[in-house]
Amino acid sequence: MSIDLNSMKKLNEGKTKIIYENPEDPKTVYMVFKDDITAGDGAKHDVISGKALIDWKTNRDIFEFLNRNGVETHYIESPQEKVTVVRKLDFKINLEVVTRRVAAGSILKWGNIEEGRWFDPLITQFHYKDDPLHDPMLDEKYIDYIIRAKKGGHIYSDMKRINMQVFEILEKAFSHFKIQLIDFKLEYGIIDGKVTVIDEITGGSFRLWPYAKDNPDLNQPNVLSQLDPDGRLDKDTYRMGEKLESVQSKFEKIAEITSRFKDL
Ligand code: C5P
Repeated sequence: MSIDLNSMKKLNEGKTKIIYENPEDPKTVYMVFKDDITAGDGAKHDVISGKALIDWKTNRDIFEFLNRNGVETHYIESPQEKVTVVRKLDFKINLEVVTRRVAAGSILKWGNIEEGRWFDPLITQFHYKDDPLHDPMLDEKYIDYIIRAKKGGHIYSDMKRINMQVFEILEKAFSHFKIQLIDFKLEYGIIDGKVTVIDEITGGSFRLWPYAKDNPDLNQPNVLSQLDPDGRLDKDTYRMGEKLESVQSKFEKIAEITSRFKDL
């Protein structure tokens, strides 16, 4: 049976997804992927025909893998192309939670950190989700304070713990395909009182660099020589101005890899 979204009430439309009410079940909503791709807090925007379908597949395979590995997520199922059913939130936490294993991207601007630095333990940072403010990074005590003031004290430490747990699960999964998970961003909400991973996890959520050799030595302070950043598979290709066809083919490659997570 096909789901007729046109007859359903739109609850919210973001840069890359639309949320519709599910008239059959008030405890769930439909999350529908769009072909849009953006960067620089929405300053750069394009439409890549077919991207929604690729992201839908990647997101499905990653969330099903996380659910199988015991992570609390909002994901239920992907009943139709581009359409995912997710659990409805009690409330959304307006933060982006970034975890990093290897130094890349914005962390390089903060001072004395060179590309390729290996972080063990993982670094986790919280950003307030707001495009006009450019998602500013928040101080731990401030996050703790605003969340505690609202809903109680366990939320901050749960998000931090889950972010690192998910990172380690996905880092291990990608390592089977000779790819290093460099960093990623997750979002959270509260469902039935529990801290839960929400939103999407797709090619725009992480950095992925292939290994430069079959058995890289990742046990050293800087691993740049062991990895192949030029072979990156992620949205940095778009941020760096590669052709849209090339961005699409990188995203397809990610979907191809995550489709094999079911065998892990
Ligand atoms: O840009 P930065 O280095 O801070 O990004 C860290 C990680 O978070 C990257 O994997 C990036 O793709 C992801 N990210 C995201 N959405 C944002 C900002 C960063 O998915 N708004």
